[in-house]
Amino acid sequence: MKINEELEVMARAIYETSPISASRIVPGTDKKETRNISWDDLIYEGEVGCDLRQLNLERAQNAIQAKDRARVDRQVDDLMKLHNNAMKSAISRAEEMGLVFVNNQGNKCALNPAVVKKQNPSVNQIENIKKLHCEAYDLIEDSKTPTKTWEEYRAEMEAIEFEMQVNWNFEKDANYHTWWKKFPACTCPQMDNEDPIYYGRGKITLGNCPMHGGSL
Ligand SMILES: [Zn+2]
Repeated sequence: MKINEELEVMARAIYETSPISASRIVPGTDKKETRNISWDDLIYEGEVGCDLRQLNLERAQNAIQAKDRARVDRQVDDLMKLHNNAMKSAISRAEEMGLVFVNNQGNKCALNPAVVKKQNPSVNQIENIKKLHCEAYDLIEDSKTPTKTWEEYRAEMEAIEFEMQVNWNFEKDANYHTWWKKFPACTCPQMDNEDPIYYGRGKITLGNCPMHGGSL
């Protein structure tokens, strides 16, 4: 997706003068580490990237409102149209590629076409990945009125995530798991774990999370 260049220049300048900072607990310690995130850090491809970029633009918009709010609004509108069109074309691409499915909760879901292109799973593997997504959603749903221990939910989700990696043709690596923190009972920091700089370096957990406290 092409970013509106003028807005990007403005946003970049804002990030340089008043950067967003993100904190995390350093894995294996109880020390907190804070670092600044640049505009470039937030620009990357994929679904999460689209969300982050949108979030980012809202912050940029707020930050520059004192100067020329109307102009920025127009630019953000244009950008959101681009964003929406890009999302629409991503969804139709996913439909063409047979990557759209409905989970057991009745929600329409899609595998990411860009990742499919890159990892090249077979037709069988794609079907497996869809089934695994449904299992993950079912497990999350089930946890809302728990029928087993948090440890069992945690372990089952981890097994599903390893199977997902196998079918995606990724290395099995728990550092790249993304579903473990989606349980409503989990109180671990969501944003820190999605930090594009940090992603892949380990799980950021909270000691008092009922599912993950002290366990990872
Ligand atoms: Zn947790």
